[in-house]
Amino acid sequence: MFKKLIPFAVVATMAFAGSTSALAAKQTFVTIGTGGITGVYYPTGGAIAKVINEQQKTYRIKASVESTGGSKFNINAIAVGDLDFGIAQADTQYLAFNGKGPWEGKPVKKLRAVFALAPEAVTFVAAEDANIKTLADVKGKIINLGDPGSGNRINALDIFKFAGIVPGKDFRDEKIKPADAPRMLQDGRIDGFFYTLGHPNGNIKEATAGRRKCRVVAIEGMDKLLADAPYYSMTTIDMSQYPDAVNAKENVKTIGMLATLVTSADTPEDVVYAITKEVMTNLDTFKKLHPALASITKESMLEGLTAPIHPGAMKYYREAGLLK
Ligand code: GLU
Repeated sequence: MFKKLIPFAVVATMAFAGSTSALAAKQTFVTIGTGGITGVYYPTGGAIAKVINEQQKTYRIKASVESTGGSKFNINAIAVGDLDFGIAQADTQYLAFNGKGPWEGKPVKKLRAVFALAPEAVTFVAAEDANIKTLADVKGKIINLGDPGSGNRINALDIFKFAGIVPGKDFRDEKIKPADAPRMLQDGRIDGFFYTLGHPNGNIKEATAGRRKCRVVAIEGMDKLLADAPYYSMTTIDMSQYPDAVNAKENVKTIGMLATLVTSADTPEDVVYAITKEVMTNLDTFKKLHPALASITKESMLEGLTAPIHPGAMKYYREAGLLK
């Protein structure tokens, strides 16, 4: 019975497709690179895919999401055509397009900005029994700066360089995936970890809710770093979102930036237009798909875009009167 139905469905679809130009257009598959599964990028990518996939009939676009090492990985994969879209920190977008930091001398000229997402904060979680209350207390400890493909590793390296602390010499630097870090911290295999992400999120909840008591450590005294790197700003983490943390009553000062959606200059204009339009026109529904997306506005979505805006996104911004 089932076998018989398939050819019928195929024939019927083909006949129908032949009769309407919209359906005759071929299906476009796009992949969005995100981050670790316990971060905010992964569900955010899922939210973008959901919004566009719900309009299958209109656009014939099927988006899927890939869990990756994070911003750096996503940008490099877009550069070689392995990913169509990726979520990347605004600082990494800037560094990659301008050939700075990890992209020194190798600018990713094909990188294009689509829109900004939610704010992120450099989040340094440390075990209370390791006595880490400031950055300087990492000496002699084991700290996970994160996946080599992550944006948080770039941020942590910047911060320690500025603070005159040498990873690998002053403390043991681990490169484990963010999804594994909370358990490793609870098991006593690391003393702390860095993760740059939006709040609230499951990763920091998991890390702070275990038996080993943890705090989120402030990143302070970075004024000069901020002055030299305009893509960073000061921010605070509202710790009431993590009631089991030792410092749950504080607002922790740290460095932040926006998360952004990026793509390649090679991505077709109609695909970028469709995604931009659908996310922007369904913003209220989109924001409800993860609590860390709550603060996004149409205006904030146009901040932090340092690579050229993709023409497909630009078309929508002009149409909507958001940009000239
Ligand atoms: N900002 C992190 C990175 O670029 C990822 C954060 C997340 O997955 O939510 O590596």
